Amino acid sequence: MKKVEHIGIAVKDMTASKLLFEKLLGATSYKTEEVESEKVITAFFKNETSKIELLAASHPDSAIAKFIDKKGEGIHHIAFEVENIENEISRLKDEGFVFVDELPKKGADNKRVVFLHPKNTNGVLIELCQEIK
Ligand code: ZN
Repeated sequence: MKKVEHIGIAVKDMTASKLLFEKLLGATSYKTEEVESEKVITAFFKNETSKIELLAASHPDSAIAKFIDKKGEGIHHIAFEVENIENEISRLKDEGFVFVDELPKKGADNKRVVFLHPKNTNGVLIELCQEIK
């Protein structure tokens, strides 16, 4: 894995949270995007080396809505950038890791993404992402 690509934060109110993070980071969000297949609205912030993804549910049965119901707002996932997502999936499967869904999907911000099941990763939801070129 190359680096932490971004940290995903689950929020209830995207408008309010975008304003909050704009104040916090002193920067405006460079992209807001709905991922219809995941029923989420995302907003991205970045500085020189770090990136934050805010995630809000666009539908009550979104995984983000369920996460917030269970755990409240907060850190939802850590995303690692990978060079070749298929190679990483098979490497990690060989190591015994379990995926939420083994097939990469089109995620936000021009990425193919896949998630490891948090039951095998100390309760942390891990995303692997590969830039679509
Ligand atoms: Zn993410």
